[in-house]
Amino acid sequence: MSTAPDDTRHHVVVIGCGFGGLFAVKALRRAPVRITLIDRTNHHLFQPLLYQVATGILSEGQIAPAIRDVLRRHPSVRVVLAEVQRIDPAAQTVVATEVSGNEATFHYDSLIVAGGSVPSYFGHDEYRRTAPGMKTLDDAMHLRGQIFGAFEEAEMEEDDARRRALMTFVVIGGGPTGVEMAGQLEELSRRALDMNFRRIDPKTTRVVLVEGGESLVATMGARLSRLTARDLGRMGIEVHLGAMVTGMDEGGVELTQPDGTHLRIESITKVWAAGTRASPLGAHLASTTGVALDRSGRIQVQPDCSLAGNPEIFVVGDLMALDDLPALAEVAMQSGVHAAHTIMRRLRGDKKMKAFHYRDLGTLAVISRFRAVAKVGPLQVGGFAGWLLWLVVHVTFLTGFKNRFAALARWAISFIGRGRYERALTGRWVARAATDGGPAPDSA
Ligand SMILES: Cc1cc2nc3c(=O)[nH]c(=O)nc-3n(C[C@H](O)[C@H](O)[C@H](O)COP(=O)(O)OP(=O)(O)OC[C@H]3O[C@@H](n4cnc5c(N)ncnc54)[C@H](O)[C@@H]3O)c2cc1C
Repeated sequence: MSTAPDDTRHHVVVIGCGFGGLFAVKALRRAPVRITLIDRTNHHLFQPLLYQVATGILSEGQIAPAIRDVLRRHPSVRVVLAEVQRIDPAAQTVVATEVSGNEATFHYDSLIVAGGSVPSYFGHDEYRRTAPGMKTLDDAMHLRGQIFGAFEEAEMEEDDARRRALMTFVVIGGGPTGVEMAGQLEELSRRALDMNFRRIDPKTTRVVLVEGGESLVATMGARLSRLTARDLGRMGIEVHLGAMVTGMDEGGVELTQPDGTHLRIESITKVWAAGTRASPLGAHLASTTGVALDRSGRIQVQPDCSLAGNPEIFVVGDLMALDDLPALAEVAMQSGVHAAHTIMRRLRGDKKMKAFHYRDLGTLAVISRFRAVAKVGPLQVGGFAGWLLWLVVHVTFLTGFKNRFAALARWAISFIGRGRYERALTGRWVARAATDGGPAPDSA
């Protein structure tokens, strides 16, 4: 057995099977190493499409294939479902809690830490109770329960004000995630739910997008920001720029507007898409290795993604602070591959440090069906051309051929037609949506 205890090959332990961890493991496929991949979920999650699970376009399985299945042709990889609790750099061990509740210890020769990030409420963790973030499958399913549950409750509601609040959705954060979520909520209410209800008219749904900064999708540049705001406005989405959330409760959101005035929006369903911070694994690793953290809790790494003083430990993806690189899937994939290649070079006897250089492949955000904004190098495109680019990129990067095929079929149904297949709700989900604050912010 390739992963037997007496296997003397160099042992690489990888924490996290997001984009960073998965691409590192794949890059080590032909290396003379054995690999233990530890994740606290059994799936590799394609986070950029979480909003489509939340709004009923895709099923959870289509964006979250089982890690074991993705890596079935990688015999040197052992997949462990467990949550990492501690890393001991002196002993070169990782301690993790398995599903049974037992603790297991893994000794490593090289360690790749790819624990990702968690939603950041900027010091207001109490907002999590009423405005779930969008980071995990639990978050997306929880939101799906809230969104479709709100329409169901509105259909039965006698009180006008409460019905309006149920049919008002507030998305906080005007980056790509917030824009995509707001756009899909609008499409859902204007098109997909047409003729589904008898007492309410889903077309009268109010979708509000709140952004604290001066522009939407700010990292994509002024032209695409303007284009995004224009397209969202044309769809009927209410955009509040320069507005800070100063309070939140079960029934609504309080905003302070740029002129200092206060505004309360009555809304039962709020979505938090305003930011992320590094996984708590970052702070733990900093305390055990003495390396510095940046403002978002990310670990400061050497130019080759390893830790100063502990060159056998690599930190990649959202958890890594290097050259102000953004928390993007491409950064995670490329840094994961770089760490894997460094391990392979060292095994060949080449100990020279080779710096990681990120190749920027651009950013994209879908606004509505057939409309997106895309920034790829100097190229900035909007409208249908941007959407085509979005389609190509997402079909290319979705994990697994079957998932690509299934997602294409669902997009055809949702964008050309108006169907949403993933709307099944049980009473438990709706009830849970009404009472539960959702998963903890550090559940990645
Ligand atoms: C809603 C949303 C939309 C996005 N859209 C885009 C986009 O359009 N384009 C883009 O480039 N990027 C996008 N991103 C960002 C992108 O998804 C991240 O940058 C990327 O996932 C980071 O990869 P990672 O491997 O560092 O972390 P992740 O992909 O988050 O993976 C971390 C893994 O570590 C595991 N883990 C964490 N802690 C532990 C522990 N203690 N023990 C065991 N396992 C653990 C988690 O279960 C998870 O599997 C989006 C993110 C979100 C949330």
